[in-house]
Amino acid sequence: MSKKSWGLSLLITFVLLFTASCGQSTQQTSSKPTIKIGYLPTTHAGVLYLDNYTYGGEYAEYNIELVKFSSWPDLMDALNTGRVEGASVLVELAMKAKVKGIDLKAVALGHKDGNVVISSKEIDSTKDLIGRTFAIPHKYSTQNILLNEMLKKDGVKYEDVNVVEMPPAEMPAALSENRISGYAVAEPFGAMAVQLDKGKVLHQSDDLWPNSYCCVLVLRNDFIQSNHDATQSLVTQYVKTSEIAEQKDQNLVDSFDQYMKVEKEVLDLSLKWISFDGLRIDKDEYNKLRKSVIEMALFDNPPSYEEFVDNTYIDKAM
Ligand code: ZN
Repeated sequence: MSKKSWGLSLLITFVLLFTASCGQSTQQTSSKPTIKIGYLPTTHAGVLYLDNYTYGGEYAEYNIELVKFSSWPDLMDALNTGRVEGASVLVELAMKAKVKGIDLKAVALGHKDGNVVISSKEIDSTKDLIGRTFAIPHKYSTQNILLNEMLKKDGVKYEDVNVVEMPPAEMPAALSENRISGYAVAEPFGAMAVQLDKGKVLHQSDDLWPNSYCCVLVLRNDFIQSNHDATQSLVTQYVKTSEIAEQKDQNLVDSFDQYMKVEKEVLDLSLKWISFDGLRIDKDEYNKLRKSVIEMALFDNPPSYEEFVDNTYIDKAM
């Protein structure tokens, strides 16, 4: 091969390599984002289960990967450090993260209602809980606020009950072993005690706080800001699936099977206590929640509605 041919073939090789590398980078930038969403296995993330069960996590503009956690602190750590882009999470925990400087936005509710206060059978009224141990999943939770509302309503001081934090899955066993006298928790862990005949419903959440807010779908704002189209598609899809979830048909039951181990009778009871429709975060309701956080001195300066809630996407989805 002549020197000229060598030069020419080198040039062609270089051009081919350059073109290939450009092609590769274009493909990467136009590829769909995979959005990791953290959850705990409770009925409260039911819309995400049904959606993933129906579509396999693959959509035109994005993919979703649901990431299971067994405790709220583990989930929050992953969210705070960016190991997941979003989560179905207790609203108070997300508000607290926002206060600590983690830029999260709540784009929809996870559900409404869906919490019960369970007690052992010998507890006849709230006053019987004085001096007893009562479990909540986390200090920063709607279950803690519901407990406070119940105690206030029945004239019992919060300090007169020994309130402890406990992972949700432990609560039914703790009640049956008399380590606790009651608990407030996400489903299905309330219905489990009732089904096992170890506990009873002392209060429904809507007796204490109608349409109570509990879990929200949050996304990291850095993700939202660089993925507006994917965020819009995700929220639109989420709203569509929430309306189907509210029908509580066999598809929903089947989808729960993929994410939680729960008996049919327990799930049927749990599903009576929760609603999945109307998931736009309303300002007045959010402010009620914010007021409770302040009243209970859970943390200082809970974020304002404007700081914390982004309804841009849900408003275009409905
Ligand atoms: Zn919830």
